[in-house]
Amino acid sequence: MPAKRDYYEVLGVSRGASEQEIKKAYRRLARKHHPDANPGDPEAEERFKELTEAYEVLSNPEARRAYDRYGHQVPRGTGRAGAGDPFGGGFQDIFEAFFGEGFGDSFFGGARRQQARRGGDVEAEVEIDLREAAFGTEREVEVDVIGVCPVCNGLGGERLRACPGCGGSGIIRTVRETLLGQIMSTQTCSTCGGSGRMVEETCENCGGGGRVSERIRRTVKIPPGIEDGMQIRLSGAGHAGDYGAGSGDMYVKVKVKEDPDLIRDRDDLVYRLKVTFAEAALGAEKPVKTLNGERKVRIEPGTQPGSTIRLKAEGMPRLRRSGRGDLKVMVDVLVPTNLTEEQRELLRRFENISGEENYNGTGGSSFFDRLRSVFR
Ligand SMILES: [Zn+2]
Ligand SMILES: [Zn+2]
Repeated sequence: MPAKRDYYEVLGVSRGASEQEIKKAYRRLARKHHPDANPGDPEAEERFKELTEAYEVLSNPEARRAYDRYGHQVPRGTGRAGAGDPFGGGFQDIFEAFFGEGFGDSFFGGARRQQARRGGDVEAEVEIDLREAAFGTEREVEVDVIGVCPVCNGLGGERLRACPGCGGSGIIRTVRETLLGQIMSTQTCSTCGGSGRMVEETCENCGGGGRVSERIRRTVKIPPGIEDGMQIRLSGAGHAGDYGAGSGDMYVKVKVKEDPDLIRDRDDLVYRLKVTFAEAALGAEKPVKTLNGERKVRIEPGTQPGSTIRLKAEGMPRLRRSGRGDLKVMVDVLVPTNLTEEQRELLRRFENISGEENYNGTGGSSFFDRLRSVFR
């Protein structure tokens, strides 16, 4: 531990300095080394402690005399009480004893004011189907929130008068004369909680709290293209906040039910089209379910399992953008079962007269490649 510096040296004044000079020197140095003016600098804090200690002793005539005589080895009982370890109470203690409570919070850092708290958020959930997700819809939601009492409008009662604590402003300002100049701090009035008013007759509806639980209904607009799990925020539809502060928000989670026919793949939709193996081989026209109802789709002769037919702009609308995704029709070729003897015979004959040439030109890509191309 470095040797304790001489108090006069710390303040940069001569041993014969007047009380006024000591005060001036301290004021100047304290501003410079105040921890609030040097955040995160431990040296500044040390320096400030040293300064404050030096000033504490030299500004007190009795303590100063003792220091002049004994130096840092001031015997117990000399000068101020417990002068042998005058600062054993810790930095913050001296600080507050010296300047008054709350000094450290309001000096340099500006006025401290307890903030009125905003109300909490609430959550709700709605379930919609795929078509509603595609075209947008509206839903009513009901939630319980803490609201402003409608009888007293949140004031807690009737016959109001200005709060005697703050004169109606809701704020208490304190100006303190300190060695470092005037310090002003503002705080929310504790008598009225910041409303500036006092109630003569307590509201029976809310018991004076100004807040009641209420069930509210809100209409939620669900935009086209919304995805499962997304949330919609209704600003200000949450719990009421403190007097003068805003309400919280309502978050509505949207669940999109699975569709029996259409699978969503972001902006695209996938439809599984079942065709018989004969239709796949011979070609056919088949109905496909789309968001806009049924529509006929042409299956070319020789269509392979897992092939896809892309119907442009028949998918989901893009959320908050223009345009739509595609509808991908995935061909699923069905193999017949429960064959009769006649059917079996016909298939055997077909097989006997078929050759490799019938199975070439199947597009080159494998079934799995085709399937993979359906989903991104
Ligand atoms: Zn009320
Ligand atoms: Zn008040």
